[in-house]
Amino acid sequence: MSEPSETTVLPRKLIIAIDGPAGAGKSTIASRLARKLGYVNLESGAMYRALALKAIEKDISFDDEPALVKLAEQSHIKLEPTVGGNRTLLDAHDVSSRIRERDVTEAASRVSVHPGVRAWMVLHQRAMGAGGGIVMEGRDIGTKVFPDADLKIFLDADPVVREQRRMEQQKIKGEVAANLAEDLRERDRRDRTRATSPLVAAPDAVVIDSTKMSEDEVLERVEELARKALNLK
Ligand code: C5P
Repeated sequence: MSEPSETTVLPRKLIIAIDGPAGAGKSTIASRLARKLGYVNLESGAMYRALALKAIEKDISFDDEPALVKLAEQSHIKLEPTVGGNRTLLDAHDVSSRIRERDVTEAASRVSVHPGVRAWMVLHQRAMGAGGGIVMEGRDIGTKVFPDADLKIFLDADPVVREQRRMEQQKIKGEVAANLAEDLRERDRRDRTRATSPLVAAPDAVVIDSTKMSEDEVLERVEELARKALNLK
């Protein structure tokens, strides 16, 4: 008589893409979802920010695409997932706080328009997430980085609400920027109108408008979609 098999088929670890504009709640949802699923949360924006910081430090113009690509190729940008979010290492230095400052935020938005810079980022982001078990957030994850992602979420919210949320976050940190609303609108405009990988929902993304939803409600919805995707595997 044959022994019953002890082999358990473990579900394949998903690749989950969360895209959307700034202030829609991507970071919080992505990190909470990753924690719930035991996945790794990767903030792709932190990589653009790290490159932008290096461009500032090396005094390289944000419009000089060849120089920015060369700079990227000479850089070591690493995202280290921690319970409190990603630790971002630039050439082995922890730049996690510095890259959240206003000058870097503005610079990241400008360096990210260049196709050459994006190609370098996409290559590295794919390598980081290839094994699955990740929630990667950004602007082009479902359209470009992982077009075959198991689950794609496009998280959106009314611009006024997004501005208010950003303001609340900054208040908590004690650093409300004077031109927050204009900055956010300008970054949005750049993201949505750039020629390469503009911010759009992938045709097969689930669009969630979080304008009138609490963070917990969004998480619940996203978790439900993730469980459904897991069961389909
Ligand atoms: O998401 P975060 O605000 O940290 O991203 C910083 C900037 O990097 C954004 O303003 C956006 O222009 C750019 N970005 C991008 N593609 C991504 C992630 C971020 O163009 N996948």
